[in-house]
Amino acid sequence: MGEEKKIKKPRGIARLIPGKCIACGARCQSSCPKDAIEMNDEGEPIIAVEKCIGCRKCLKVCPADALEIYYTPEEQKILAEIAARAKAAAPEVEEVGEEEAAVLAKLKEYKGVWVFVEQTGGEPAEVSWELMGVAADLAKTLGVELCSVIVGDKVEGLCQESFAYGATKAYLIDDSVFHHYRTEPYYQAICHLVDKYKPEIMLMGATGLGRDLAGAVATKLQTGLTADCTGLTIDDNRFLLQTRPAFGGNIMATILTERTRPQMATVRPHVMPMPERDTSRKGEIVRESIPVREEDFAVKVLEIIDERKAGDVDVAVADVIVSGGRGMCAEENFAILQELADELDGVVGCSRGAVEAGWMPAERQVGQTGKTVRPKLYIACGISGAIQHLVGMQDSDVIIAINRDRQAPIFEVANYGIVGDVLQVVPAITNRIRELRTQRGR
Ligand code: FAD
Repeated sequence: MGEEKKIKKPRGIARLIPGKCIACGARCQSSCPKDAIEMNDEGEPIIAVEKCIGCRKCLKVCPADALEIYYTPEEQKILAEIAARAKAAAPEVEEVGEEEAAVLAKLKEYKGVWVFVEQTGGEPAEVSWELMGVAADLAKTLGVELCSVIVGDKVEGLCQESFAYGATKAYLIDDSVFHHYRTEPYYQAICHLVDKYKPEIMLMGATGLGRDLAGAVATKLQTGLTADCTGLTIDDNRFLLQTRPAFGGNIMATILTERTRPQMATVRPHVMPMPERDTSRKGEIVRESIPVREEDFAVKVLEIIDERKAGDVDVAVADVIVSGGRGMCAEENFAILQELADELDGVVGCSRGAVEAGWMPAERQVGQTGKTVRPKLYIACGISGAIQHLVGMQDSDVIIAINRDRQAPIFEVANYGIVGDVLQVVPAITNRIRELRTQRGR
């Protein structure tokens, strides 16, 4: 019998899926070994079909899954023939082993997307509502319910608030034991709810409390947890794709929890957009209790000391941030950033370069190991735009970059770029704003 002629598998070419690019800073362009990608003014890739070799490197680095491989109709026919030949040659599909079948059956018992609503003294953490937005998308894709989980003392009011942000059911454990956060009673409460109601996904804020609780819950339940996710989507097999920066932020890793449930992830504040609040929405409250007593816990909260001082600035919640980097050249030059920030009712932030130089305190640092910010306006002054800085501010509504190096990567994410010396440009902007205010009599 003559051997069948081998068919060469077509590689296709990369193309942009309309509306999905988030202008992350040209990661696709820098990954392309053939220089086949140019960026347009919106920061979206334009792929030169004649240069693309279908290597998929740009697909792998894209944090928004905004690129796909396109095959011409002829190539699609070849792929279909290859698939048909492979099927004909494939050995009989092996029966799923008993152990594997048990795992699959167990996974099917878990349904629903949960968001843990973090609160302190009844005051909810905003990140919990931000998580409701992305959780609603996940629940919609899976065709399951979105539920909130509320644990605390006299916190029933938060159930209605969670309905306003999209939950249709709230699991509530309300008891004086939960007045102050402590790891043990809280993780016992969450594990009790998970054991009983079996959610497939559980999200928590990557705050101090959320990180502590999520780790304890995942350990107790022996399930996977991905911290500090920047993207959450569902794949064709209903798995949660948990994307987060890895290796110092130089690559984006997508992590799956394939064999255990729930699939747990934490997300830092301001990474996800705040969904719309609609107080007319209603939902069901499921009241639960667990048999715990204060005497069961060795840890007692004696006093809460708030270390924040009056006048402390939280860059994470500011609408306008004027940020300075190593290009500010000296600590005293940050005064010109403060003047501009004052004119704009904003605050001064900084890069790690400025913190390392000793010019700014670490609380003002924006980026991977600093704060994630989403202001209406971010002005980056003398900041190069290292990826670790970009991941903390690239979702700002409007970004203005001032840098004397026109090749600085910060310009790739900026809506407006000014090539020049910050020490001249910043005072000039401040003066112009003052002039305009005077002209308008304000
Ligand atoms: P530089 O990279 O030195 O850039 C200074 C810029 O100023 C240059 O572009 C230069 O052209 C410009 N400049 C100089 N003089 C002037 C002038 N007179 N006028 C105009 N422009 C001028 N960084 C963060 O910011 N946040 C983080 O959270 C963070 N986390 C990190 C985590 C890890 C694991 C690692 C490895 C690194 C992290 N970094 C972080 C550091 C990051 O990689 C960069 O080193 C840092 O962001 C650089 O700071 P910079 O842009 O201020 O300084």
